[in-house]
Amino acid sequence: MKNKTILITGGAGYIGSHANKMLNEKGYETVVLDNLVYGHKAFVQWGEFVLGDLADYDLLDMVLEHHSIDAVMHFAAYAYVGESVTNPEKYYYNNVVNTLNLLKAMRRHNVNQFIFSSSCATYGIPRKIPIPEDHSQIPINPYGQCKLIVENILHDYANAYDLKYVSLRYFNAAGADPDGKIGEAHEPETHLIPLILDAAFDKSKHISIFGADYNTPDGTCIRDYIHVNDLAQAHIRALEYLENGADSDVFNLGNGNGVSVREMIETARQVTGNTIRTIESSRRPGDPDILVGSAIKAIELLGWHPQYTDLKEIIETAWHWKLKSLF
Ligand code: UDP
Repeated sequence: MKNKTILITGGAGYIGSHANKMLNEKGYETVVLDNLVYGHKAFVQWGEFVLGDLADYDLLDMVLEHHSIDAVMHFAAYAYVGESVTNPEKYYYNNVVNTLNLLKAMRRHNVNQFIFSSSCATYGIPRKIPIPEDHSQIPINPYGQCKLIVENILHDYANAYDLKYVSLRYFNAAGADPDGKIGEAHEPETHLIPLILDAAFDKSKHISIFGADYNTPDGTCIRDYIHVNDLAQAHIRALEYLENGADSDVFNLGNGNGVSVREMIETARQVTGNTIRTIESSRRPGDPDILVGSAIKAIELLGWHPQYTDLKEIIETAWHWKLKSLF
């Protein structure tokens, strides 16, 4: 029997490249489509690579014509929350309109399984912790709004057309594959762990703590960090779930443990053995005090088993990648 072939949009990015590696290790064939605006060609070490943009409908049509794609994992999206506020047009076109293009091409070629990278940003300000999937969804920025719009589009398309989907709402993706071949590298970098490790690596740098007056035990924001390989594993489980005949659904992906910014810095000090200079600065607009998810549904229904429940281990994988890659 022919191996299943998965189209991975955004497969040169952080989470997409980890999913691509894991899919190949599990015997799937993959085709990575990425415009390399934020992705890295060096991260595409498995499967076939197609350089291109989801705005290019003819290209999508050609890719789906020439490869017998069984399912699509859709990671491609812009992901700078602050930029989505100052330039929403960029986000609505790339993250929503281009997803419509992709779904249109899929319909034309009868590709009917779709795994979508959604986000806890769809919830907005949490009304209860840990956040369950049926929590209200009132995003507070265009980035979260785009993810929610696509979730709603998927719901309507699945009702009307021959489409089955799983939307995976990630909490904070963290760490790197322990092989050290791929990891987290954004340009510009805005994420907490890579910036902390930069400050651990280079004594001239520091980490800014965005707000020390939050309503949390140590005054800094609490987030739910989930290892990137655990996210990748969940995508494969979601695919198998649909293949086994399950209905479309949405799942949170998180560890269910809250970690504050100060706890993260302290744990990084222990892992790296280095001093990490910190500066307390003002709050970043749009950051809720606490975001922690309940992933019980994914554990029960998808049979998802997160492997990295120890924060130290998560940071170790990111540090290993940093030392090896010098990105
Ligand atoms: N953060 C921080 N300093 C930084 C970057 C991030 O204090 O230089 C905080 C940020 O306010 C948030 C947490 O770290 O509470 C995680 O931020 P990140 O940008 O990594 O992920 P997000 O939660 O925005 O998806």
